[in-house]
Amino acid sequence: MDLHTIDTIVEPRARREVPLPAPGDAILGGGTWLYSEPQPGTDRLIDITALGWPSLAITDDGLDIAATCTIEQLIEASFPPEWTATSLFRQCADALVASFKIWTTATVGGNICLALPAGSMIALAAALDATLTIWQPDGTDRTTTITELITGPRRTTLAPGEILRSIHLPETALRQDVTLRRISQAPLGRSGALLIGRATADGYILAITAATDRPLLLEAGSPAETRSAISRISSERWYTDPHGTADWREHVTAMLAEDLVAELVERRT
Ligand SMILES: Cc1cc2nc3c(=O)[nH]c(=O)nc-3n(C[C@H](O)[C@H](O)[C@H](O)COP(=O)(O)OP(=O)(O)OC[C@H]3O[C@@H](n4cnc5c(N)ncnc54)[C@H](O)[C@@H]3O)c2cc1C
Repeated sequence: MDLHTIDTIVEPRARREVPLPAPGDAILGGGTWLYSEPQPGTDRLIDITALGWPSLAITDDGLDIAATCTIEQLIEASFPPEWTATSLFRQCADALVASFKIWTTATVGGNICLALPAGSMIALAAALDATLTIWQPDGTDRTTTITELITGPRRTTLAPGEILRSIHLPETALRQDVTLRRISQAPLGRSGALLIGRATADGYILAITAATDRPLLLEAGSPAETRSAISRISSERWYTDPHGTADWREHVTAMLAEDLVAELVERRT
């Protein structure tokens, strides 16, 4: 849709051209959410796609995903065959209630910074132990994790003017065995629960998203211990919206988590 409140679009080509933050600013990634509803408080867009960051870079210790990398670029890229966890990229893209038309524009960083419980790039980053690099307006960087960044539905710890620059996935996690479970109340509905499990050197990590108001990471033991760990999650965390009630989400999460960990345990033995 046209955003009638916007009077300025800044297209920085270099970091020094990124303007200092001002009230009414919004960082523009792919714009699939920003342009999908009125933005009455916004009058200036900072289009970070103009910065021309390389979308993906394989480094000595893993994968750097630029915040501006589109979902399509992520799922179409080739990776070393031993990075088995990259199979999650396509599964997480499929978990969005978005067609391939959205994938071509929506960015990984936009999905994370929007901080919807059903943000599947959030699930991916949580499950694969991502380190997020954030540009601060004073020219310095800070790093954080997804569970520190996302504090609730549409809530993050990003300060005004901060820009998510990149998402680093460590090679160790990319080589580990992973599996995903997702449920929604309608065949093409938004995720009611999205869980990803990863077999680490000494146990299992479980990332819970969509069912809770923010991403949760659990160290999972046996399937029964996992169910019990889920029963200890505070009732405040379970999320209710038109896509499912908190009770339903808690119930299906426990079921899916048990099943998911059982699969990882079986594959390991
Ligand atoms: C049909 C349809 C279905 C959708 N389904 C889902 C879904 O299932 N789950 C879901 O989570 N979303 C969904 N969305 C919402 C949205 O399209 C996606 O979350 C998408 O990934 C957002 O990415 P974007 O690059 O378009 O973000 P934008 O619209 O550009 O930005 C989203 C928000 O993040 C901020 N932002 C963007 N990039 C950065 C950055 N690098 N640093 C700091 N702030 C930044 C923006 O200021 C804005 O507040 C859907 C949208 C449509 C139209």
